[in-house]
Amino acid sequence: IQRKIAIYGKGGIGKSTTTSNLSAALAGKGYRVMQIGCDPKADSTKNLMGGQRIPTVLEQIRQKGDAIKLEDIVFTGFGGVLCVESGGPTPGVGCAGRGIISAFEQLESLDAFAVYRPDIVIYDVLGDVVCGGFAMPIRGGYAREVYIVSSGEMMSLYAANNIATAIRGFGKRGYAKLQGLILNAKNIENERQIVDRAVQEIDTRVIQYIPRSPDIQSAEARGGTVFETLESSPMQAVYSELAEKILSA
Ligand code: ADP
Ligand code: SF4
Ligand code: MG
Repeated sequence: IQRKIAIYGKGGIGKSTTTSNLSAALAGKGYRVMQIGCDPKADSTKNLMGGQRIPTVLEQIRQKGDAIKLEDIVFTGFGGVLCVESGGPTPGVGCAGRGIISAFEQLESLDAFAVYRPDIVIYDVLGDVVCGGFAMPIRGGYAREVYIVSSGEMMSLYAANNIATAIRGFGKRGYAKLQGLILNAKNIENERQIVDRAVQEIDTRVIQYIPRSPDIQSAEARGGTVFETLESSPMQAVYSELAEKILSA
């Protein structure tokens, strides 16, 4: 594995949309990518899998126990992207963070990385609560580079700040580095200025501006990324640019 990347952000901010289009862009450049959804919503990879949800690692552990195989939890999507969803606990019962850890342990015990040999692994992580569990992709040494998806809205910048604080707190132990913020626009007033100020405060930078675009909904309705479903969308160039910047970071 050459690169291990985590994408964090508030729920609903556009992490999975950004991550799956990024994976598709990287796959188009010839990289073998594995995308691991770490959100109980378990829809991170949907747009790489023709709009279909895949079974989650936690569901498969519950159903198959020790008989679980790699083919039960790793699925090949658009562009050959290897798709995994950690899944979540039964609502109201259990700890989502603990679930992520169990899912990672299962992948390791089945030697997923040695078998599939991805060049790039991308974790798509819910960043509303940066508790020990949701910090696991960073603290456990799974991801070395962190990107935060945010708009100019206060709640998503609040989450961004928490994520940055967590990474800084781990700082001396060198688990991972905050590489930048991906501005997924909500088109609020003065959005760029607001976000520019916020990134200064958390000592990072905006690495890519992603405009709000109706193409995202169109692609989603067709069950895919813009690369698969919208040949002439200008959004392809946006995600390609993001991929190039991440590759050269
Ligand atoms: P998250 O993974 O952070 O919970 P999603 O990626 O599922 O968020 O995105 C939430 C919604 O926002 C989706 O319906 C998606 O289509 C929409 N969305 C995300 N990014 C954009 C964008 N740049 N332009 C338009 N809609 C977007
Ligand atoms: Fe688990 Fe974190 Fe939820 Fe607490 S906040 S139950 S540690 S996922
Ligand atoms: Mg998501």
